[in-house]
Amino acid sequence: MKRISGFIRPSLAIIAAGVVAFALAQSLAVAEVHGVSPGNMDRSVKPGDDFYEYANGDWIKRTEIPPDRAGVDVWSKLDDLSNQRTADLIAEIAKSNPPAGSSSRKVADLYNSYMDEAGIEAKGLAPLRTRLDAIAAIRDKRKLARALGETLRADVDALNNTNYHTPNLFGLWVAPGFGDSDHYVPYLMQGGLQLPDREYYLSDSEQMSKIRSQYQTHVAAMLKLAGFSDPDARAARIVELEHAVAQTHRTLAENEDIHKANNPWSRADFMAKAPGLDWAEYFRGAGLDKTTSFVVWQPEAFKGESALIGSTPLESWKDWLAFHQIEEYSGVLPKAFADEGFAFFGKVLSGTEQRRPRWQRGVFVVNGLLGDAVGQVYAERYFSPEAKARAQAMVANLIAAFRQRIEALPWMNPSTKAEAEAKLSTLYVGIGYPESWHDYSNYEVKPDDIFGNIWRGNLSEYQRQIARLGKPVDRKEWSMTPQTVNAVNLPLQNALNFPAAILQPPFYDPQAPAAVNYGAIGTVIGHEISHTFDTEGSTFDSKGRLRNWWTPEDLKHFEAATAQLAAQYDTYKPFPDLSINGKQTLAENIADVAGISAAYDGYKASLAGKPAPTQDGFSSDQQFFLAFGQNWGEKTREAALRQQVMTDSHSPGEYRASTVRNIDAWYGAFNVQAGEKLYLAPIERVRIW
Ligand SMILES: [Zn+2]
Repeated sequence: MKRISGFIRPSLAIIAAGVVAFALAQSLAVAEVHGVSPGNMDRSVKPGDDFYEYANGDWIKRTEIPPDRAGVDVWSKLDDLSNQRTADLIAEIAKSNPPAGSSSRKVADLYNSYMDEAGIEAKGLAPLRTRLDAIAAIRDKRKLARALGETLRADVDALNNTNYHTPNLFGLWVAPGFGDSDHYVPYLMQGGLQLPDREYYLSDSEQMSKIRSQYQTHVAAMLKLAGFSDPDARAARIVELEHAVAQTHRTLAENEDIHKANNPWSRADFMAKAPGLDWAEYFRGAGLDKTTSFVVWQPEAFKGESALIGSTPLESWKDWLAFHQIEEYSGVLPKAFADEGFAFFGKVLSGTEQRRPRWQRGVFVVNGLLGDAVGQVYAERYFSPEAKARAQAMVANLIAAFRQRIEALPWMNPSTKAEAEAKLSTLYVGIGYPESWHDYSNYEVKPDDIFGNIWRGNLSEYQRQIARLGKPVDRKEWSMTPQTVNAVNLPLQNALNFPAAILQPPFYDPQAPAAVNYGAIGTVIGHEISHTFDTEGSTFDSKGRLRNWWTPEDLKHFEAATAQLAAQYDTYKPFPDLSINGKQTLAENIADVAGISAAYDGYKASLAGKPAPTQDGFSSDQQFFLAFGQNWGEKTREAALRQQVMTDSHSPGEYRASTVRNIDAWYGAFNVQAGEKLYLAPIERVRIW
C-alpha cells in the first residue's frame, strides 16, 4: 500500500482543476555523478547531529524553489525527465496523424484540446452551463440525491495510492474484497470538502483560520465569475456546510485503521443507518442500483453527511454542488476561472507563485486520463529488457534478505513466520510496466472539446471500474503507469509495482557502486516489500484477505515496537505549532526502517565476501547511508509543508533521512557517539524486522 514518495501527486480531480499543487522540479544532482554526490553535502555538520543536513546541506543552501513549484526534491530530476519524455512522445504521436478511434488519436486530441487556450476562451462558460442549469432546476431533495449520485467517481484509493480525498459527496474505490480477495467489491469513502482535510476546517490555529477566510473569499470570487447573485452570502453558506461535513469526517490516522474500515453495508443498511439522503435515488444516479452490498469505510461520516442532506436547506446544497462543479473544471474554463483557482489552491494552499507551463499541465491531463496509452510507448522506448533483468535481480536479493530476517526473528512464532513466508512466496513483483494495458475504446475524445474530454474521461474510468464489480481479480494489474516516478505496494493483491521511470539514475545507476544502488533504490524496494508486513500489511494474508495471521504474543511485540516508533516521530516538530503525527505516518516510518535494514543485508550479501571500494573518501557503508539520506533531500514551501504534515501518511524528507538513527550499522559507519543529537542508546533504537 502506499506510494514511497510523500510528495502530493495530482489526482484526476486536481488535474481537472488545473492547480497541480506539487511539482516536478529542478535537478538535485549537480553533475554526472555515479554514486553519492559529495557536492550536495554539508560536511561542517556532524552526521550524528543532523544526518539530513550532512547529506544534503549544501544542496539545500544553493537551491531555490522555482516560482511554479511548491517544492523540489530528489524525485524531481526524474519527474522532469519523465515528463519531458512523455511530452515528446505525445508530440511524436500527434505528428504521426494516427487513425481515428485509435488510442494514439485520443492522446493527440486530448493534449491538443487542452492546449487550445483560444478555443477555451471563446467558449466561455458555455461548456459548464448545461450542468449549472441542471443544478438550478433541482426542485427537491429527491432530485438532489439523483444529481449527487451522478457525480460519484472512482477518485479515491484507500490502500494502493492512498488518496482519501474527494470533493464529491462520496468517493468510490473498486478493489479486491476484504473477505473475498478474488473478486472486486465497491468501497465507499467520505467526501464533500474542497480543502485537503477536515483539519483545515476544524483546527483553531491562526494559520488555519486565515486560510479559511481566504477560502471563503475564493468561493465568492468563483461564484461571482460564474454570474451568481449574492456570491458572498452563498459562499458563507457553502463554507458553513463544508465545516459541518468536516465535523463528520474521520481523521487521516483513523482512515488508515483497516479494522475500523471493514463495514459491509447492504442497500437496506444505508436507509436504516444513515437516514437523510434518498439512497435509492443516489445509487440510481451513480449507476449502482443493481449493486447490493458495499464496504463503507467511515460509517459515521455517511451517517453525518446523509443527515446534513436532510437538515440543510436545498438551496445551500445546490450552491455547494454548483460551486464544486465550477471548481473541478476551473482549469479548463476561461483564464479568469483558472487564475482564481490557482490563486487559492496554488498560492495560498501550497505557496506556489506561478502556474506550471501549460504543456506540463497538458501532460498531467494525458497521464491522468490516457496514462496507459502513453505508458505503453514510454515503456517500449525507455525500459530495456536488460534494465528489467537487472532490477529483477535486485528485487530477488531484497526478498531473500527479508526472508532471512524473518526466519531469524527471535520473538516471532513459527506459525506467524510460516504465513509471512507464504506472503513472500506469492508476492507478485511488477517491474517496469504492466503485463496488460487499459482499454480506452469506450472513451470518446473530441479534438476541440477539453471540457467534455475530461468529463467523459473521468466518467469512462468510473464506468470501467463499476463494470468490474463482482468479477475475478487480476492480481497482476498495476495501479501506476510506467512513466510515474514512484513505487507502490498493493496489499489486497499481495503485489508490488516498480515503474520504469523510477528504475534509473540517481535511484538506480548501473555505473554506481553497489553500496549506493542498495542505499538509493534498494531502500525503496525494501520499503515497499516491508509494507507487506507493516501495521496494515500484516492484517492481510498471503491471498490478500483481511485475516489475522499473527499469534497474540507476536502482535503484542509488534505493536509495542511500532508504538515506540510512533512516539519517536511525535517528537519531531517542523513548525512550533505543528508536530509530525507519529500514528498518521507510522506505516511509512516502519517501512523506512525495515527498508534500510533489508537493503543493508541485501547489499552485504551482494558483495559475496569481496571488499567494497571506497569512493571520494567514503567507506562503502558510509556510501550506503549517504545514498539513502540523499533520497530525501527536499526544499518545500511552508504552506505546502504544512499541508503535507497534516494530510500525508509520509513524513517530510528530513525525518525520513533521520531514521538511520534506528540502524546499528549507521553508528559504526559514522562513529556516532552518545551526546550527539540523533544518538539513541541501543535499547531505544526501534527494531521491527
Ligand atoms: Zn510506503
